[in-house]
Parts: sequence; C-alpha cells; structure tokens
Amino acid sequence: MFLFLIVRIMSKDKIIRMEHGAGGEAMQTLIRDVILNNITNRSAGLVGLDDLDDGATINIASNIHDSKRSDEIVITTDSHVIKPPFFPDSNIGRLAVSGTVNDLAVMGAAPLALTCAIVVPEGFELDSFEKIIRSMNAAAEEVGVPIITGDTKTVDRNGLDSIIINTTGIGIADEVIRDCGLCPGDRIILTGTIGDHGISLLAHREGFDLNTDLVSDVAPLWNMIRSVIPIRTIEGKPAISAMKDPTRGGLAGALNEIAQKSGTGIIIDQKDLPIKGSVSSACEMLGIDPLEVANEGKAIICVKAENAEEVLSIIRKHEYGKDAAIIGEATDSNSGKVLMRTTIGSMRYVDTPTGDLIPRIC
Ligand code: MG
Repeated sequence: MFLFLIVRIMSKDKIIRMEHGAGGEAMQTLIRDVILNNITNRSAGLVGLDDLDDGATINIASNIHDSKRSDEIVITTDSHVIKPPFFPDSNIGRLAVSGTVNDLAVMGAAPLALTCAIVVPEGFELDSFEKIIRSMNAAAEEVGVPIITGDTKTVDRNGLDSIIINTTGIGIADEVIRDCGLCPGDRIILTGTIGDHGISLLAHREGFDLNTDLVSDVAPLWNMIRSVIPIRTIEGKPAISAMKDPTRGGLAGALNEIAQKSGTGIIIDQKDLPIKGSVSSACEMLGIDPLEVANEGKAIICVKAENAEEVLSIIRKHEYGKDAAIIGEATDSNSGKVLMRTTIGSMRYVDTPTGDLIPRIC
C-alpha cells in the first residue's frame, strides 16, 4: 500500500496536469520550480519574470544606453485556449485582444501595439476563422491599438481540437503600476460583477439552462482604466496603489496575490460584492465558489482611501464599470491573507484556489 502510494504520487508529479495551467497553487509551483529555475536572465527593466506580475517592463535607457531617457515600456503575452471558441455574445478573438490589453492596462500602460500568433487545426471552418479575426479587430479598434505582426500555423486535427491564439502586447506607462503596492488602509474597488464569464461559458458548454440571458463579460478595459490613472492624493502621490485583473483563479486568486506580494492583509465584505443573481444561484447549484471563477472584463483597483469615492464614481460612468463597488480594504493585520466578512456576520479566509474549477475558459 505504502509503495503504491509513493508510485502514485511520483507518477502524478511527473506529468503536466490541467491544474498546472489553472492560475492556482499548482501553476505557481510549476512556474517557480521549473520555469524560473531554468531561465537565467529574467529581467530587462523594473519588472521582470521573477515578479510574476501581469507583464514585465523593458528599460529603454539601459537598453539603448541613452541616460537621458528613463521610459519603461511594458510587455505582456498570453495564449488563449477556450472551448468552445464561440460562446454567448463573443468569441476567442475578442478574448485574445481583451486579455492582453487588460494585462497592460492594469500595469498602467497604454497599449501601443499587439502581435498575434494563431495555431489552428486542419478542418476549422474558414467562416469561423474570419469571424474570430473580425472580433479581434473590433476589440483592438475599441481601444485604438494596432495589430502589427503575427503568425499562423495549421496542425493535424488529431493533434489539436480547437484554435489557440497567442497575443503579445506592448505598452507604455508614465508610471508603472504594480500588483505589490497595496498599503494598509487602501480601499479595494472591483469594477463589476464577478463570475459572468466562467459561469456563462460553463452553462453554454455543458448545456445547462440557467434561465437567464447571462453572457461573458469579455471586454478591453483600457478606456475605463486610463480615466483614473492620473488621479492624485492631496500630497500629489498616485491614488492607485495596485491593480490586477481577476482572470484565472478569479477574485480569490487575484486578491491573494496582491496581499502576498504587498505584505498586507485584505478584508472584503460579502454584502458589497457585485454578483448577478443568476451567477450566484448557478454557483450554489453547482457547488462552485463565485470568488474563484474567471472574469475577462473586470479589474481590481486598489486606491488610497481619500480617493476611493472619486475613483469609484469615474469608473461607474463607464459602460464596463457601471456595477463597480468598493468591496473592502487593506489591513496591517493578517499579512498575506484575504478574509471575508460574510452576510451572516462571520469571518472566513478566502484562499488561493488550488485547482481549475472550470478548465479551458480563458
Ligand atoms: Mg492579469
């Protein structure tokens, strides 16, 4: 029995499993132990691979040896695998552009250009392919970012069951915003309802009738986020201390990352969490925690308390931010942990999700 257990554990650890790409602890271990350990040169500017932020920066001054310039350009990349590629109200094309634009946006970077690499299986319908490209274009046009280079590969239909799109984004920030800058007392703003993307995808894929018109929230957020980046405190410091988009791993994963990297605690209030009735009843029915479900059109914006109402009111004026809410604040106790005050008045820890609740949705 003991030997059997050892063999099971060893064989389990020798292969890539779905949770290695799920945004939770298994993925973080894979990145730390296998990727970071085997790449020796991991930084080209202020933010590098070790920071595991939404993207990284390249310091132009040090790279072109021009000491008069100090600009950091921001770069991020993401491969999008979603099954099925067409889902309620949208498709993988809009997702591939929005995901990358949002990773730049939450670092405070205006998108300058995107690249696009597509791997598509033989037999994929040309009409569907064109619809996907048109959706990529529409999302890119929304935030005025050009798609300037790319690559297309076709593979045997036995080797791949659907399309994969990688996009890389290059942006520029006046001041890079990190996911490690949260300070005790800062307020946490969530720009809209949680779980829409994951739950609408799951219902569509598995054929559940949720009796609602719930659709994915996938959207490029730069136009909304850019409107609050310039806000300053009375002392002239940036109002935003940290930002992140709660994609894989959901709100729970993103808040834990911010708390751990910043060395603060976070307390959120369940009653303040924006969530659609259809999402919360579907989660209840399926035994899924909505805090762990992926979103594709939401951002967590951490701001100084004095600026919280101003930032919130600007975000709410935007179509993608109309349901925004202040959901909690940073504390100096419970460093690295996220706590939630529940609607019945108790406190519970909100942990980093360990596995993939709903695979292949982003
Ligand atoms: Mg991100």
